[in-house]
Formats: sequence, C-alpha cells, structure tokens
Amino acid sequence: MITSKILHNTLKENFGFEKFRPNQEEIINTILEEKDTLAIMPTGGGKSICFQLPALLLPGITIVISPLIALMKDQVDSLRANGIEACFINSSQSGSEQQLHIQNLKDNKVKLVYIAPESLSYLDQVFSQLTVSLIAIDEAHCISAWGHDFRPAYTNLGYLKNRFPSTPILALTATADKATRKDISQQLNLKSPKIFVASFDRKNLSLEVRPALDRVKQIIDFIKDKPNESGIIYCLSRKTTEELADKLQKVGVNAKAYHAGLDNTIRSKTQDEFINDDCQVVCATIAFGMGIDKSNVRWVIHYNLPKNIEGYYQEIGRAGRDGLPSETILFESYGDVIQLQKFASQGLNAEVQLAKLERMKQYADALSCRRKILLSYFGELVTENCGNCDICKNPPSFFDGTVVAQKALSAIIRLKESEPLPVIVDFLRGSKNAYIFEKEYQNLKTYGIGSDISWFDWNQYIIQLINQGYCEIAFHQQNKIRLTSLAPEVLFEGEKVQLTTVQKAIIENTEIKEPKKKASVNSLFETLRKLRYEISKEEKVPAYVIFSDAALRQMETNRPMSDEELISIDGVGNAKLEKYGDAFIKAIINFQKSKEVKPKKEASTYKETLLLFQNGTTVEEIAAKRKLGLGTVMSHLAKLYMDGAAIDLHQFVTREEVSIIIEARIKLNNPTTLKPYYDYLEEKVAYDKIRLALAIIEKGSNPS
Ligand code: ADP
Ligand code: ZN
Repeated sequence: MITSKILHNTLKENFGFEKFRPNQEEIINTILEEKDTLAIMPTGGGKSICFQLPALLLPGITIVISPLIALMKDQVDSLRANGIEACFINSSQSGSEQQLHIQNLKDNKVKLVYIAPESLSYLDQVFSQLTVSLIAIDEAHCISAWGHDFRPAYTNLGYLKNRFPSTPILALTATADKATRKDISQQLNLKSPKIFVASFDRKNLSLEVRPALDRVKQIIDFIKDKPNESGIIYCLSRKTTEELADKLQKVGVNAKAYHAGLDNTIRSKTQDEFINDDCQVVCATIAFGMGIDKSNVRWVIHYNLPKNIEGYYQEIGRAGRDGLPSETILFESYGDVIQLQKFASQGLNAEVQLAKLERMKQYADALSCRRKILLSYFGELVTENCGNCDICKNPPSFFDGTVVAQKALSAIIRLKESEPLPVIVDFLRGSKNAYIFEKEYQNLKTYGIGSDISWFDWNQYIIQLINQGYCEIAFHQQNKIRLTSLAPEVLFEGEKVQLTTVQKAIIENTEIKEPKKKASVNSLFETLRKLRYEISKEEKVPAYVIFSDAALRQMETNRPMSDEELISIDGVGNAKLEKYGDAFIKAIINFQKSKEVKPKKEASTYKETLLLFQNGTTVEEIAAKRKLGLGTVMSHLAKLYMDGAAIDLHQFVTREEVSIIIEARIKLNNPTTLKPYYDYLEEKVAYDKIRLALAIIEKGSNPS
C-alpha cells in the first residue's frame, strides 16, 4: 500500500518539492489504482510530476508520448539532473543511438521513455518484450480535430488501449473546452476515465492591457527595468517580429526574431539560445512556444491583440511556470482590431472566429477585474477581484461623459456615418489637414467642437462608446463608424453616459530608466544565477534544469550554509544536493563574507580622500598628494558615493555617457569587470568614466 507519506517522500527525495500542487496527488493515486485518467491543468500547473513520480514507484516502464522532439530532450535533461534514468527515442537520433536506448530499456535501466507518436509502430515489437506500467499522453488535445493543434499522427494512439488493455493511460492537456475533452477520451478508448480539472487561475501572472501608443518605446522602457529577465513578445506578423527585434537590438537588448518563415537551423538556434539564457528576448509569431518548457520566462508581451482568448491564455501561460511573480502586457490598438476582424470574416468558420475575437476585445476593453473575465471564459466563476491586474490595482474612475458622447455621436451624423474613427477625431478636434479640406468638412456644424480634448482621449472615448453599444464599426465598409439604435437615447432623450479616462502616465514618461533594484549585480540572487549559468554550460543543459529561479530566490532569502539547510529548499532533492550542493553553499558563504565590514585601515584611506575632496582639492592633486594613481582616487570616489557620500559624480561623467553604459550593461549581461565595457565601447570611454557611471547606476538601483 502506497501511503501519502511515501508519495511525499518520493516527491522530496527525487524532485526536491515539499508539497504537491493542486490535483497532483489525486491524479497519482488514481494511476496507482490502475485507472485511466484525464488530467486537465493549465500550462505550468505541474503535469509532468503526475506521470514522472508514479513511474518511479511502478515496477515496469512508463511510456510518454510527446509531440515535440525539443520538449522530450528538455524533460529527459530535467529528469537526469534529478538523478532519474530516462531516455527518448526519436528520428533525430542515429540507428546505433536508438539501439543503445532500446537495450537499456530491455535491461531495465530506465524508468521512463519518451517517444513521438510516429515511432510507436516501429517500437511496438520492443514493447512486447517489456512490462509497460503506465502510458502517459502529453498534449493529448493533439488527437482532436476540435482542438487548436491537431496532429494526424496522434489519431493512431487509439490502438494503445487494445494493445495494453490492463495498463493505465494518463492523458494530459491544458485545453479546457468540453468538446475536446470528450473527444480525447473517446479517441483514446479510455475506460471510464477519472477526470481532473485543475483551476486555470495562474495567480502569479499579473495582467495588464495598455493602449498601443508608442509601443516600441514602452517595450524598451519595460525591458530596461529587467536586464536579466527572459521574455517573449508575440507579434501578429513575421515582418513585425523582425522589425521589432531589430529595434531592440539597436538599443542594446539581446533580442531575436522567430517565425515559421525562417530557416529551420536559425529557428532552433534561437530557441536554444533562449532556453539556455543566451538570448534574452524573442520577438515571435505564435509559432514560438509550444516546445518550450523553460520555467524562468519572467514576462510575456502581446505586441498585437491576439485572435482569441484561448491563444492569449496559452501564450501568457508560458511566463512564470516556476510559480514566481511574472508580468504580462497586452497592447491594444484600434488598427489591430480592424485587421483581425477582416481576417476572421474572410477565413473559415467566420462567425465563430468573429465571436471569439469579440470576446478577446471585450477582455482588452474591460473596466472590471480582468482575471474574472478570463476565468469565466474557461467556465470558472470567481467572486473575488484578483488584485493582480491593472484594473484591480488602478480602478478606473468614471465621469459623466454625456456631453462628450453627444458631441461624438452628432459628429458621426454630420459626417453621414461615412468616415472611420481617425477622421471623426480630426473633425472633432478641428484639424486642418488635407482630407478635411478636400471634403470641406470645415464648413459643417460641430467641426472643432472637441478641440479641448486630446487626440488620444477622443480615440479612447469613441472606443468606449463603441464598446457600450452606441455606435459600431462597419468593417466591411472601410471601417466607417455608424450609429446604433441606442444612439438616439443619448442624443435626444437625455440618457446619461459614463466614460473613463485611460491612464497615460506610463506612456508620457520620457526619462531614461535606470535598472531597478532587482537587477543589482551585487545581489546574492545574481551571484547564484551566474553560478547556475556556468554549471549549465558545463553540463550542456538549460540553466533552469539545474535549479529554478524559485529555488534561487529561496536560497537568497534563507541563505542555507549546510547540507541540511540546503535540502530544505523547494527544488533541491537528493541528486541535486549531491551534485551542486557544495558549489552553491560555497557561493553563499563567500557572498556573506564579502558583505562583512571591511578592515579599518581601508576605511581610513577612503576617509582621507573624502576629506581632501570635500575641501576642494582636485582629483589630480589628491592623487599627487597621496601618491596614489588617478584611477585609485576615482575608485575611492565611486566607493564613497556608493556608501552614501554626497559627491556629484556627474562632474566626471555626463548623463549621456551614463545612458550609454546602461545600454552596454544590458547588452553585456552585467559583466563583473570593466574591461568588457571598455572593449564594447571601442575604447572610446575611459575606465574611470565607466567605473563612475556604474557607481551612479548601481546607487540609483540600490539606494540605501
Ligand atoms: P506543465 O507541463 O503543466 O506546463 P510542468 O510539469 O512543466 O508543467 O511544471 C511546471 C513547473 O512547476 C516546473 O518547473 C516544475 O518543476 C514545477 N513543479 C511541478 N510540481 C511542483 C510542485 N509540487 N512543487 C513545486 N514546483 C513544482
Ligand atoms: Zn483583477
């Protein structure tokens, strides 16, 4: 009898985790009772443990069917890092490599084997010589033509139940919709499966929607705040991914484009670099992400409005799988809405697609908790506001917008319901552009009656009127704005309209941002992150396979300095303790030491420099008087400044130079020495300036 205690011990010893996530233990128990199971969990919900853990307890092998070769490799790497023997067999390997794995299977040396559905028939004969204890089918929605990712090879999987009638099957997917669920269990011939549906709420993902004004600048500001954090930017078109990556590179962000039109080798190189923390940002079409298990994606941005909520939720779900707080931003533009409406109305199944787009748009335009809207889309009803979306954090305040609405609606009438939104705004604001004059709109009544309201605000107000149903976009007729039957009530019957002003603070902030505290090169987290990166290079596995960001953060807080303390960290199991324990404990101890107070002698030499400097002595004079190099004096000033002395370092290094160094710092990924900066800046910026600029940057991000 396998007790809950045994399950928890297995979880800790082999995977390093203290607790099960919701549904994991229940699913594992069902499998151990040899029942078929269908597990529906969001991305990052922790599906893998549901078959990896029972695989260790069952006598025979566990076969895992997985659609993507890249994903198999990552999962096997992760298992091996935890000291669990596993392998994958697929077409990327040579015949002899495959034979080796097959032999290992026969010799009972591995507990889990990952295979693609295409390889099943080829391996069938091998399997008849083995005890198969469990079959796990990952991304099971691929079997259903209802799902959004149908794969023909998956339809053959129905034979597994006949082939291994007494072996339990576990089907896993993150697709929630009911039709797909039913289809999965029918096509796999599951025997009255137990179905588990986990909540789709991912509390650690913050939700935010911004107007797409000056998107690129907003994105650059956002990234500069987090120079070491991986992120994905989803774009609608291939062209946009390339242009955006280009713009980001120009300001020193390590960004690459990814789309289906690129050469295969380039694509997989970009994907690898991203997974291995060698490329910080990927600007991608939705072709990117399915094969990525990277747990430390810290943010996801949608440069364009997604086509539907399913896709959007799956894409943002790629952030924060490790459970740490992660950010998501969606940029909404009127132009995108129009383009997407056109696409949807011309494609297959137009009515359904348009309805889905409409739901997406409602989400983006929401004036109440966004998470409630998302979860209700997936059939989960929540009563509490989430507190982690832009609306909850910054609730919109409404004003009586009746007069504003009347002006807009009558302008639409004056223009005979024949103009798109930008012309209406120009007309309201009394713009003197060629189009207005050509049409002689300047002679109409109401021309210019809204000149006191900005272009941006008018746009937002009219969009709100559209959302409230007073007018609509005729996207089949050049996007003319027309009135609806509700409009007369506002115009003639005194109906009141509530409007809200959209926050623009983020957009109007034009200052160059300096990296925030989080990114400080001096933090223990950064030290551990670098160590993890080095080990990952040696072992040729992604960094997050060694330890997740969540584990490093916990080490930063708890500062474990012994084996017993380290093993209490979530994510440290026996194998990792043995392999990496020493290195990490050493790094933590050294870090502690380096933070201890410096000997007195050193303190006094700084003090002497400070006194002279405060008395008006120039740095050259100080150097001569104290028989020190100029560089040493400069480094004293940097240190004194960092420690809080009131010294204006800008007399030695200009603001422009500081911002150049900020960019270099991001591009170079925070080097610990000055030489990389010097080289990167083509020897044009002196060492002293670099040193002082860094002091300014670090002090700015770490004010004490
Ligand atoms: P999914 O396949 O559902 O997207 P994964 O199986 O890849 O999710 O798990 C997502 C992340 O959560 C991984 O980094 C994994 O190590 C971690 N994880 C899984 N189960 C637990 C747990 N019980 N406690 C802590 N972390 C967990
Ligand atoms: Zn909310």
